[in-house]
Amino acid sequence: FLPAAALLAGALLAGPAAAQSDPITRRADALIARMTLDEKLGQLTQLGAEVPGPNGETAEQLIRAGKAGSVLWTFDSDLIARLQRVAVKESRLGIPLLFGYDVIHGYKNVFPVPLGLAATWDPALVERAQAMAAKESWVAGVNWTFTPMVDIARDARWGRIVEGAGEDTFLGVAMARAQVRGLQGPQLGTPERVLTSVKHFAAYGAADGGRDYDSVYVPEVQLRNVYLPPFQAAIDAGAGTVMSAYMTLNDVPASGNRWLLRDLLRGEMGFKGFVISDAFAVQSLQNHGFAADNPDAARRGLLAGVTMDMASNSYLRQLPALVKAGKVPMRQVDEAVREVLQVKLRMGLFERPYGAPERKAAVFNDPAHRAATREAAQRSMVLLRNEGGALPLAASLKRIAVIGPLADSGEDILGSWTVEKGVGVTVLQGIQARWPQAQVTFSRGGDMQRAYPLPWDADQGKPAPALMPAVDQQTELARAVDAARQAEVVVLVLGERANMSGEAASVASLALQGNQQALLEAVVATGKPVVLVLLNGRPLDISWASSRVPAILEAWFPGSEGGHAVADVLSGAVNPGGKLPVTWPRSTGHVPAYYNHNRTHADETARTFTSRYSTDAPSSPLYPFGHGLSYTSFSYGAVTLDRSSARVGEPVTVSVTVRNTGAVAGDEVVQLYTHQRSGSAARPQRELKGFQRVHLAPGEAQTLRFTLGRRELQFWSPVTRAWGAEPAGFDVWVGGSSAATAHAEYTLTR
Ligand code: BGC
Repeated sequence: FLPAAALLAGALLAGPAAAQSDPITRRADALIARMTLDEKLGQLTQLGAEVPGPNGETAEQLIRAGKAGSVLWTFDSDLIARLQRVAVKESRLGIPLLFGYDVIHGYKNVFPVPLGLAATWDPALVERAQAMAAKESWVAGVNWTFTPMVDIARDARWGRIVEGAGEDTFLGVAMARAQVRGLQGPQLGTPERVLTSVKHFAAYGAADGGRDYDSVYVPEVQLRNVYLPPFQAAIDAGAGTVMSAYMTLNDVPASGNRWLLRDLLRGEMGFKGFVISDAFAVQSLQNHGFAADNPDAARRGLLAGVTMDMASNSYLRQLPALVKAGKVPMRQVDEAVREVLQVKLRMGLFERPYGAPERKAAVFNDPAHRAATREAAQRSMVLLRNEGGALPLAASLKRIAVIGPLADSGEDILGSWTVEKGVGVTVLQGIQARWPQAQVTFSRGGDMQRAYPLPWDADQGKPAPALMPAVDQQTELARAVDAARQAEVVVLVLGERANMSGEAASVASLALQGNQQALLEAVVATGKPVVLVLLNGRPLDISWASSRVPAILEAWFPGSEGGHAVADVLSGAVNPGGKLPVTWPRSTGHVPAYYNHNRTHADETARTFTSRYSTDAPSSPLYPFGHGLSYTSFSYGAVTLDRSSARVGEPVTVSVTVRNTGAVAGDEVVQLYTHQRSGSAARPQRELKGFQRVHLAPGEAQTLRFTLGRRELQFWSPVTRAWGAEPAGFDVWVGGSSAATAHAEYTLTR
């Protein structure tokens, strides 16, 4: 006897036969029936545009022979159009190619880096931004972006923290969903949108020691509660592909991990698209000491559930012999090819294989795109500190010194992952435009560079960028101090070069690199009012500045209109309203730093026996998660609930009135945090469960409502090994950061 559900599950597992009614699957299967093994493996192969094929073939030769399903690492529209024509017109079956590229935060018009986009706490804006990026990509011929990166990152040493939404799962979920909707549209095949790849599956952000590519050890309870929900959100929003990560997860490489890619991703999480490996990750199953050799890597990658091999050509090279020898069942190959073809068919790629390069200029120059990059940059900025009304700066300023190695760098302001090497508006240019009457002097003040070249540069024999000799650093610093002395105010721009955060950009220290700390101290010593503007992709150690510099603006890497946006905020034309998507540690030793950790052994009011640094430093962060100031002030009324007790699963409505108590209009990101007081397992001391960014005129008040239901309160219990909400007492806080104090409580009963 088999229950109906099991019969149904059996029928679904039986695959194509059961899905007879689905026209997309029928079309895919009809194609598969006509394909040779080489052509099948071609669909499972993504060629690096410049990487030679298994026998030294060019991409074009392989495509003509039907031995490629996708090409990556080119955004050259002519080349893309030419290769697509070869695939469609000259290959035997005419299956169109996917062209993949890392369009992470804009194509021609560059938005803030993803960490900056998360700091807007504005998913609607992020969706709009990614829709524009999709359109620019699509016209150019890039129909697949390796975005969004949804890896939760709690360790700022990890360079790729810049590519995600920061440390928090709830915010990460919102950003993941918004990005997929923006890039792909409401469904695959939406005109002028692209296929997305949510990455890097899974828990890549928990790299040991913050070192990129290093092993990850994450217990299942954290994997499920912290790292997977943004992937689930992206999948639920329809993400067509998932990228498997580079590293080992609990000793099994993520790209050879059948449990992860099959049981969890396709089974429990209900993913219906295909899995692309990260670059060369199939081949590197061998480097991990997991696969014995390249054939073993190809076999185990495919069997584990990596549908398409990015760049390593291992499938193309090894699977023909393995299939013929019966070591890889043809059924597995067909299943993978079906996944690829289904996505291509659902995208409408057979009907619309080409972009619209003739429209590139019009789309790239669309004033709405440019305006959106400036708006996004404005909204991403976080005012960390503003003592004594140091900001905004007066419109009447006559002498402004703009200082710092990044202040006039049009490349660095864009951040990592840019498509066509463009330049953005620099902070210097922004200030010159905003204060046309003032004398604006610029001085670099010194320099900083990566100590080691990027791996792909190193592979080509390129050395690390040369650092300015120490003696010149001294001269530059002295010039900067002179410039500061002559000015009424100093805008000091410090942080990281674009290539100092991102992939392969982990750091052992969060300290300001190069001579920046010396420059900071020397400029502050002049006694002139200093505004510190940070351009960076991670929290840095600014503890010294945080008690000596009256105004600090976190501008992230704000993108192509970045300099204008900085000037808009410094001048007060725009009131900053962004909030930190990361906890800001006091020093490197404070990482990993994240607010939603568990309570400890002693009551939180106790002075001992709680988690803390006891000997040398305060344990509190420099700035809490969710922090960000405004040129106005906000007051919070009492937090009220529509009931003090409810049954598990019944929603409770939380209301709070927020008022702008200052003299200018401004935005507040109202954040709601909960704590479950008891349960089958310990729960974090606070967890974000709701947020709304509101705009309030001076004196204006607004009552905001949040719902706390099963969706918000459920978690995966390591004891019951299931998702569920539990009966317990709950605390609720609402406020402008994770340190919110306005509080209420209620009880959930069975
Ligand atoms: C990165 C991915 C990226 C891929 C393709 C890899 O090195 O880890 O995030 O999408 O390269 O450029």
